[in-house]
Amino acid sequence: MVARSDVLDAVIVGAGFAGLGMAIKLDAAGFSRFVILERAERVGGTWRDNRYPGCACDVPAHLYSFSFEPNPNWSLPYAPQKEILAYLERCVDKYGLRDRLHLGNAATDATFDEELGLWTVETSRGKTFRARALVVGTGPLNRWSMPAIPGLEGFRGAKFHSAAWDDSFSIDGKRVAVVGTGASAIQIVPAIAPGAARVFVHQRTAPWILPKQNGTIDEAAQARFARRPALQAALRKSLYGITEFWGLGFTHVRSVMKLGEIASRKYLEKSVADPALRAELTPRYAMGCKRILFSNDYYAAIQRENVELVTDAIAEVRERSIVTRDGREREVDAIVLATGFDAADVKAPFPIRGSGGRVLPDGADAYLGTTFAGFPNFFMIIGPNTGLGHTSMVVMMEAQIGYILGALRAMQKKKLKRLDVRADVQRRYNERLQARLAKSVWNGGGCTSWYKTEAGKNTTLWPGLTIEYRARMARFDLESYDAALEALPVA
Ligand code: NAP
Repeated sequence: MVARSDVLDAVIVGAGFAGLGMAIKLDAAGFSRFVILERAERVGGTWRDNRYPGCACDVPAHLYSFSFEPNPNWSLPYAPQKEILAYLERCVDKYGLRDRLHLGNAATDATFDEELGLWTVETSRGKTFRARALVVGTGPLNRWSMPAIPGLEGFRGAKFHSAAWDDSFSIDGKRVAVVGTGASAIQIVPAIAPGAARVFVHQRTAPWILPKQNGTIDEAAQARFARRPALQAALRKSLYGITEFWGLGFTHVRSVMKLGEIASRKYLEKSVADPALRAELTPRYAMGCKRILFSNDYYAAIQRENVELVTDAIAEVRERSIVTRDGREREVDAIVLATGFDAADVKAPFPIRGSGGRVLPDGADAYLGTTFAGFPNFFMIIGPNTGLGHTSMVVMMEAQIGYILGALRAMQKKKLKRLDVRADVQRRYNERLQARLAKSVWNGGGCTSWYKTEAGKNTTLWPGLTIEYRARMARFDLESYDAALEALPVA
């Protein structure tokens, strides 16, 4: 017998945007008995881990923040990592979440009890929690992708992944190799180039880059936002509208992406005079197939005297150098692996045991990226196929959070102990989803990317606009679920 007082409304795993947003909304809805488990000693998720030089968000800050918690004090249109982390810390305090936050507690196992309709969650520090619902918000971008380069293990200098920056290493006066030219690398290179002796940028695929609208948001503008929240809300709406328009280019109106290609080519032409270098920097796949990058200073950094774009593939790493296929050896003091994340191979962050003890398998499909057949009362935020190429992920997270609240409200109202998405509903949903993705630029754009598995299945992206996703998530569709009534075995 389990005492009702020992049963939480939810266990939330992860204290990034997703977990904290969920916690705030649960509290507001009266489901206040929850805990947030966080493996690290600090909240912030990806914005805690990624602290490389130049780290900032390439989505406008006024959109990349909770809709219910506008921040008038962003200092830049694209917020630096430190400001985003501070914003999340502030949310924890403002919404009184500290008492329910268990830092340094990684969830290690979660098991569903069919009879009681409860999850039991264990943590790395030996704590055990029982809850009606399990919400996992650990995010897809936390398993680093380490390149299989011969000799990399034996390198004797400093070597670290972009998401695990070695703060003890001073770049000043050093020769640094940056491997990769994705969203992280193009922020790192301009930030380290002025201090480093040399920077070698190892490019495998030239990315599409568009300039960002930047500048500062001065104190007067911040004060205006604080005084007139409607002004900030209007800005958020217009940013949302603009990004959604560009989103059309990925799936619906591919000609929109052609406009982007023209703008990007023009920007490259304007920025890089040397035709040979320009050719090396010119992408050879359809724009949007990989994430579109935004930068005002990457091309300038590449043209610095102390920076070299290296396009010959890396053949091997030696104790103090990198050798490329053309036989050239470049001595370096440090290697920064800006090689991204293994996001396409959807993996549960710890064993999640659903009905009949089945463990959530790697590569599992979900329904609406949120629920999994056979795993009752389990919800994932930013589960399979909820990623975006065009706008703020916070928009998707908030849609999911609302949906999960809808599920919990339905359970409470109808006295349900178990909600399990129907397998046929989930199957049909994924068939349609993959059919739509087959027509998208991600699948047909002539590139490889972390959006797809090695077999070519796109497991990461939502195939439409966020307006559509939000509309689908606005109502919890109980009819898509098998539900079991609470038999009140809980004392
Ligand atoms: P990424 O976009 O996956 O880029 C990885 C880079 O490493 C690519 O250029 C890739 O080349 C290269 N690479 C991988 N293995 C290599 C090898 N063996 N040899 C040479 N090059 C290799 O990773 P990321 O830049 O860390 O970004 C990942 C995601 O994080 C982004 O797409 C975005 O969603 C998020 N992010 C967001 C922001 C933001 O501002 N919001 C900033 C940073 C990251 P290929 O292209 O040839 O594979």
